Amino acid sequence: MKILDMPCVKGFIQLAQDGVDKGWHEMNGGNLSYRLTGMEKANVKKEVKKPQKEWIDICESVPKLAGEFFIVTRTTGYMRNVMRTPESAFGIVEIDSTGTKFRIWWGLVDGGRPTSEFPSHLKNHEVKFLQDPNNRVIYHAHPVNLIAMTFIVPLKAKDFTLALWQIMTECPVIFPKGIGVVPWMVPGKGEIASATSKLMEEYDIVVWAHHGLFCAGTTFDRAFGLMDTVEKSADIFMKVAATQKKRLSTITKKDIAKIAKEFNLVNLRKQFLR
Ligand SMILES: [Zn+2]
Repeated sequence: MKILDMPCVKGFIQLAQDGVDKGWHEMNGGNLSYRLTGMEKANVKKEVKKPQKEWIDICESVPKLAGEFFIVTRTTGYMRNVMRTPESAFGIVEIDSTGTKFRIWWGLVDGGRPTSEFPSHLKNHEVKFLQDPNNRVIYHAHPVNLIAMTFIVPLKAKDFTLALWQIMTECPVIFPKGIGVVPWMVPGKGEIASATSKLMEEYDIVVWAHHGLFCAGTTFDRAFGLMDTVEKSADIFMKVAATQKKRLSTITKKDIAKIAKEFNLVNLRKQFLR
């Protein structure tokens, strides 16, 4: 099957375009990665035949991802070009047997490289892969209301999670484990990558203060759906906050406990309701 006909590549392109349509990807903001299945990997090898020779340092160590293949967006690339010029805007890469290097199999033409957040993506992939091999998608975007929230809500998981659980009824159902928060840091490799992946051990959603959001999912639909739900709730939160008026009613902690019971949310982080 041709690379651009593979369902995972089509799903990758569609998510990127959906994020652009939502207004989450100004300039070259945001990035996306997907870990291929064994069959998808075999198809890439069959179709492309041979990779580029050069192995490139990841600048992180992800030994559990040795030999895995990823689709990943291009550094300084624009998400709006993922659908228009796919071979340039993203690529398919292989991780080496030590988990410290990668090489390009397809795409990223004209000297392209994976996103500068690739180390963060891979650290998150490694954590999520060990939790459940079905976890395949890591998505980073810059949704405006969520970023605005990081200026007025304390940068703590409990405060952020409760703020969103209490503003829209579906939130505790969609992300019962809550949301992790990384304080402001320089993006890229190193400190922020390890801070994010540490939180990914407990959460599927991690806020980067004054920057954006990371979501992990088993599918493109799930990762996009998490981003969309958080941003919609953040939109409501900011609209309510902008009125400068005291709320006349809200979803209480008791209400959230009732939702958890009704929907059998066994993994709801109950300590956030205390
Ligand atoms: Zn970003």
